[in-house]
Amino acid sequence: MKKYAMPIMMLVIFETVAVTLWLTKNNIFYLFNFSYIGMSISLGVFLFIRKYKHARRFVQLLVGTYMLVYLGLICRENMQIEGFWYYLFTGVFEAATIHYAVAKIFGPLIFGRGWCGYACWTAMVLDFLPYKVPTHPRKQLGWIRYITFAVSLIFVSALFLAHVGNLERIMFQTFIIGNILYYASGIILAYAFKDNRAFCKYLCPVTVFLKPMSYYSLIRVKCDKEKCISCGKCRRVCPMNVDMTDNSRKRENGTECILCMECVKNCPKDAL
Ligand code: SF4
Ligand code: SF4
Ligand code: SF4
Repeated sequence: MKKYAMPIMMLVIFETVAVTLWLTKNNIFYLFNFSYIGMSISLGVFLFIRKYKHARRFVQLLVGTYMLVYLGLICRENMQIEGFWYYLFTGVFEAATIHYAVAKIFGPLIFGRGWCGYACWTAMVLDFLPYKVPTHPRKQLGWIRYITFAVSLIFVSALFLAHVGNLERIMFQTFIIGNILYYASGIILAYAFKDNRAFCKYLCPVTVFLKPMSYYSLIRVKCDKEKCISCGKCRRVCPMNVDMTDNSRKRENGTECILCMECVKNCPKDAL
């Protein structure tokens, strides 16, 4: 039973959020929403423990399509960073502000960048591309994410300052156009750099929140130095160029870990 502590813990965390928001916001949608996401993630972790090869991809599809198709396209909620700024400026703790608080700002203190490994609908598509393991050294282009972050903030601020009408409709159109741009640039970058996760490494504005918060993550991959034979296989299969053999918080690219567990699966000595 002890080996199933993680999926149980994930379920408890998400159910706590689901019930708390349901009761405080008096809206049963939150019970459904966070229960669905929590159950999907717990099921994925359970399948991973049972050594099902596609466990992570399974969760990615369950959560990613739910958020993109149901919440984004059917319910017309802009869950992208522009939607977060929009709800923040209107002073409403709903939809994207709750999503960001749970998945991208405070949640990473517990589960790091689990969002990036198991739920993001952009990466859900990018992970189908052929370059699962980067073949070239990482480029020093991480500064671009601050530009995309600033552009999203300036764009929504300008809409408010200019008193543009019908912002709900504009936010929905922004969601559609934003996703097309994300997918197009993500696919182009993946082929250009032969790296499926190039968009995540250099362009994604959400990492401006995710990286500093996941630095303190409770859940992280650790290396048992007694078992490790320094074969380097873990580092070769990591899609995010993390040095997971270093247990310090300052490990190389430590805030890039998406908890995909490829290193754990490939370690010949079960040292991770
Ligand atoms: S870095 Fe951005 S695009 Fe990549 S998985 Fe995370 S949130 Fe999604
Ligand atoms: S794969 Fe395992 S044994 Fe090899 S370096 Fe990594 S942690 Fe050590
Ligand atoms: S391979 Fe390991 S260190 Fe790299 S992102 Fe996946 S879980 Fe994190």
